[in-house]
Amino acid sequence: MTQVAAESVVPGTERTNPPAYDVDKVRADFPILSREVHGKPLVFLDSGASAQKPRAVIKAISDVYENEYANIHRGVHYLSVRATELYDEAREKVRAYLNAAKASEIVFTRNTTEAINLVASSFTGQRLKEGDEILLTELEHHANIVPWQLVAERAGAVVKPAPVDGDGIIDLAAFEKLLTPRTRMVAFTHTSNVLGIITPAKEMIKLAHDKGIPVLIDGAQSAVHLNVDVQDLDCDFFTFTGHKLYGPSGIGVLYGKAELLESMPPYQGGGDMIEYVTFEKTTFAKPPERFEAGTPHIAGAIGLGAAIDYVNGLGRDAVAAHEHDLLQYATAQISELPGIKLFGTKGEKASIVSFLHDDVHPHDVGTILDQAGIAVRVGHHCAQPLMDRFGITGTVRASIGLYNTRDEIDKLVESLDHVKEIFG
Ligand code: PLP
Repeated sequence: MTQVAAESVVPGTERTNPPAYDVDKVRADFPILSREVHGKPLVFLDSGASAQKPRAVIKAISDVYENEYANIHRGVHYLSVRATELYDEAREKVRAYLNAAKASEIVFTRNTTEAINLVASSFTGQRLKEGDEILLTELEHHANIVPWQLVAERAGAVVKPAPVDGDGIIDLAAFEKLLTPRTRMVAFTHTSNVLGIITPAKEMIKLAHDKGIPVLIDGAQSAVHLNVDVQDLDCDFFTFTGHKLYGPSGIGVLYGKAELLESMPPYQGGGDMIEYVTFEKTTFAKPPERFEAGTPHIAGAIGLGAAIDYVNGLGRDAVAAHEHDLLQYATAQISELPGIKLFGTKGEKASIVSFLHDDVHPHDVGTILDQAGIAVRVGHHCAQPLMDRFGITGTVRASIGLYNTRDEIDKLVESLDHVKEIFG
């Protein structure tokens, strides 16, 4: 999939959309995009937080509830068997989407956060001793910091961040140096939710593996924008979340290499994750069921499968090319505005643009944009250590999805000009 070096943007030389991608047709698939906000057409530039849902996903969910719903795995009756088939098909779609070797390597969770907590608790937590280290990076979302702190604290281990430079690029030499004989786990984001920067994941995984250290990749943002291939990456664990991938909220994914998942104890106990239960002793099911205690989000998994079908139907490369075009266009336009500083414009990037007005607080910018019908995210983006690294408290973040247009970027830029007029 195409990735963008934002520094190569030359205003006025932006590429045009590939003809195959009909963004108006795509927009028509998303009912919410036709609504107004504060009397203005909605311009939704907050897909990095949670993306809007196409009719195909909404329909898949309502179809299950209207026609094919029952609890899975436990029934001999028609609807239970049918719902189980659909749930298993969804797992297979996720497997193919990530190019995992086996469907049993795909565990459904509530979200990325739960997937990371699962690994921290059932894999890393089991192996940690006092003085051990867990290596992260300064780019991380709190979801890829706090779970590690919780298990580290229990064991007397330490969480360390690998530094990034002023542009948010990982210092690979420093990262390598921080891989010590005490390092038990490496976990880092594949794409920064604040800057859109894509980390050199394959290289970092290789460096860690050369020292025998397992790696978890937080793919919450990358699963949306990149062609992820977990076998090619050779990561031990990969996590993502359905709601950013145009699927429902409440469903997420943990990929784990089969032999690692096999070696891990359950994260939660209950129905569906057992082999045999007596009061004296319980034996557990094989993965993935071992990690899916209780009734799962059945319709959520099926909805995620529909979202994957939808994105595949548009063509992942075509989507990436469209987003790439908008990223370049937005970066070029915003960099022209006086008094605005862009963050993270170097290196390979996914379609996220973060910036700060010289004199206006991000919350004020967000409020003025909202009045114009434009939804952006403002604040620390659940990445306070990265804000500290840059010496700021927050940014304004426009995150571009497959349904955004150049016209919407123009509206954003016009409104940012308006912010300047209001605040002088
Ligand atoms: N990691 C990254 C990079 C994210 O952007 C997010 C959400 O914004 C998460 C983790 C957490 O995702 P969720 O809230 O779906 O668990």
